[in-house]
Formats: sequence, structure tokens, C-alpha cells
Amino acid sequence: MKIAIVGAGISGAYLAKLLGQEGLYPDVYDAGAQDTLCGYRSCGWGAPIGIEKYLAEVDLDLNEYLIEPMFSMNFDGLEAKTPLCTINKPRLLRDLNAGIRLKRQKLGQEEADSYDVLVDATGITRALLPPCRSDLTLPTLQHRVAVSSEGDVRLGAGVYGNRIPGLGYLWIFPVGNGQYHIGIGGIGLVHHESLMERFYRESSDQFSFRPLCRCTGVVRVASPYYSTPLSLTQRRKGKTQAVIGVGESIGTVSPFTGEGIVYSLECAGILADSWPDQEEYGNLVLARFGWMKKERETLDYLLGQGRNGGPRLRDRWRFYKNARRSGIDLPVLEAFKRMGSLSRWVDAPD
Ligand SMILES: Cc1cc2nc3c(=O)[nH]c(=O)nc-3n(C[C@H](O)[C@H](O)[C@H](O)COP(=O)(O)OP(=O)(O)OC[C@H]3O[C@@H](n4cnc5c(N)ncnc54)[C@H](O)[C@@H]3O)c2cc1C
Repeated sequence: MKIAIVGAGISGAYLAKLLGQEGLYPDVYDAGAQDTLCGYRSCGWGAPIGIEKYLAEVDLDLNEYLIEPMFSMNFDGLEAKTPLCTINKPRLLRDLNAGIRLKRQKLGQEEADSYDVLVDATGITRALLPPCRSDLTLPTLQHRVAVSSEGDVRLGAGVYGNRIPGLGYLWIFPVGNGQYHIGIGGIGLVHHESLMERFYRESSDQFSFRPLCRCTGVVRVASPYYSTPLSLTQRRKGKTQAVIGVGESIGTVSPFTGEGIVYSLECAGILADSWPDQEEYGNLVLARFGWMKKERETLDYLLGQGRNGGPRLRDRWRFYKNARRSGIDLPVLEAFKRMGSLSRWVDAPD
């Protein structure tokens, strides 16, 4: 069976490694821009400590990639315990890509026709599959900055929904050596730069920020359920060819938080386990990530019918469940209140 994986991000590279363990050696193609400081996109490095079990599957050790645990994070002014950390994602990608047949180029049509299976691991691009049946995306801007302060005040990790209008948040993740990723993402948001400037201005009494790198990107928060088809079968040059999506190309991202690293790994694991049964894979993905469908429906509600009324009880419950799923120790009433504060901004002008 001749297999090509298009996209050597987290899901494509991990899938190649898992298939290799089964004696299948796909060709991997990646044609992404290498124009950031770390040489990769998309470059958010936040992950739960639980990522270690996925790394162990391919004989990698989280300690090699761990930059900083974020045992405590600020959520709109509330300090909560978390099992989150930052990982050196570029290094992880380099190690995942080591030993696989990676071609830094686009897959041409003629070459594509020679494969029995094409895997679409192109993230937001979704280069091989047709458009999602109902896409929803979140534009982002992320800066890498060196942060210094007077005295020993340290900028803490945090997530701030109250810093932007509408649905989204500003995040502050330490990435080592006094450097941070500071990013902003929001559904329908356009004024990222001015919001970022406002954050720097308002924090300037305590911290100074030296910009090192910036990137813009878009996250698919549609959920797998609304990202169908997850795979298809087509006739190519007289033979049958399967095209199968994995990772963010099919929406394995938390719609509330935009976290996609660990879910893309999980999705690649499901694909490797059910290989090459497309139907079983699709059913497993929809079942496993059914909660993403519910989160997506909350976003749709808050952007539409619920715009004025605010979140319903079920939306607040989903927010609480999201925090619990990520291991964030947020008391239930606080979680409900946070969701309320988020929705206050839905109508605010951008
Ligand atoms: C600014 C930002 C910050 C984020 N922060 C976090 C975070 O902190 N934690 C978290 O869990 N998630 C985060 N995410 C989401 C997370 O990065 C993605 O969900 C995750 O990387 C998806 O993995 P993937 O392998 O499916 O896709 P990607 O990582 O997007 O990889 C897709 C690959 O396909 C390649 N490609 C694209 N088109 C083609 C083509 N036509 N031909 C060949 N190659 C192609 C690209 O170069 C890329 O290497 C963030 C996203 C953004 C934009």
C-alpha cells in the first residue's frame, strides 16, 4: 500500500511514526512557511502534562521537551491550578520528523495519483479534502517577546477572556529564558494589533516587552462533526484512492480554547489503530470528540440567538466541563461566572 501524508505538523509527523511501528512507511510532504523564529507554524506551545503518554507511544520523553510547567495560571484574575505546561514544539516536531521520509515540497497532482491513500494533515489549509460542511475559524496573532521587569516581579502565565471583545482570549505562555508567547485570538476579531498594544501599554508600569517574532494564524474551531467529510474515496487513473483527514484539518481542536496539539495526537492515534478502515475511523473520531460538537454549538448559540441573552445553563456547564477536561481546578460556580463575564463582551464593538 502506497501512502502519502501531506503535512508534517503534529498530526502528520506523529501518524508517520505510528504507521512506521506497524511496518508502513509513508512518504511525508510539507510545504509550509519556515519564516518564524522557531522555523515552524503554528507555534503555540501550550499542552497538558498528559501529552507524555502520546510521546511515550513513539519512545519520546516529555522531559526532553518540557520548558515550563504552568501549575498555576491566571484566568481573568482568578488563580487556578492546572496540569498545563509549555513544550518545545519545534524540537518535538524535529524529533517526530527524524527517520521519516519527509520531502519539503508540495505534492504534485501526477505524483498524488500514484498513491493508494492520501492523508490530509494540512491543518487549517485542508488542502486535499473538500471544504468542511460548516467551518468556523478563529484568527490569531501571536508575538514572541522578551519580558523584563523592575525588581523580581515575574509575568505569570494566564488566559484573559476579558481583554478582548467577543468570544476569544489573550494568552500569556512562558517559553523559557525570560521569553513569552503572548497571543490574541477571537472569532470574527480583526483588531488584534491594537488589542495587543493596549495590553503592552497597560502592563508597562511593571514590565517592558521586546518583540522577537510574530505570526498570524487561524485555528479551526468547527469540531469534527461540522468538519465532514472526514474522509472520502475517489477514482484516480482507474484505481480507487482514499483521502483521509487527521488533526486540525478535520477539526480536532477544542472550540472553547483552540487547543489542538494533544487532540491532534489523539486523532492520529485513532487513525493508526483503525488503519485503513475509514468508516471505523470516522465513527471513532465523532464519538471520541463528541464534546467538541457541543462546544461548537455553544459558540454558534452565543454568536446568534444567545447574543443578547447570554449563555444558557448548558453552555455554562460545557464551560465547566471544558475546564475539568483540561484538569483546571476551577470551582463550578466560578466556572459559571467566568462564562458569564465572557458573554458580556459578545455585543461590545471590536
Ligand atoms: C497562534 C496559534 C497558537 C496556538 N497555540 C496552541 C497551544 O498553545 N496549544 C495547543 O494545543 N494548540 C494550539 N494551537 C492549535 C494547534 O497549533 C493546532 O491545532 C495543531 O498544531 C494542529 O496540528 P496539525 O498537525 O493537525 O496541523 P498543523 O500543526 O497546522 O500542521 C499542518 C502542516 O501542514 C503543512 N501544510 C499545509 N498546507 C500544505 C500543503 N498544501 N502541502 C504540504 N504541506 C502543507 C504545514 O506547513 C504544517 O506543517 C495554536 C494555533 C495557533 C494558530
